Amino acid sequence: MGWTTPEWVGKPSKFELFLRERINKALKEEEPFVYSVKGSKGNEYKVTLANEAWSCECVGYTYRKRCTHIQKAQTEHTEAHS
Ligand SMILES: [Zn+2]
Repeated sequence: MGWTTPEWVGKPSKFELFLRERINKALKEEEPFVYSVKGSKGNEYKVTLANEAWSCECVGYTYRKRCTHIQKAQTEHTEAHS
């Protein structure tokens, strides 16, 4: 998904380019992959893949920037999208 410029519009200004970049970024961020992964204690965690970066809402991720939920979601994601 992106932004196409019709040829008759001419050269965009720097401000226009800046706006387009922001809009394209926002569009990307609106479509993350979200996985619900069950933790060892039975609680569910939401694991999100947005802008090619994984994140999880659990405490382990908050401290260590990685956790088993992300690993499980990555496995699921690879199986579903390969
Ligand atoms: Zn986690």
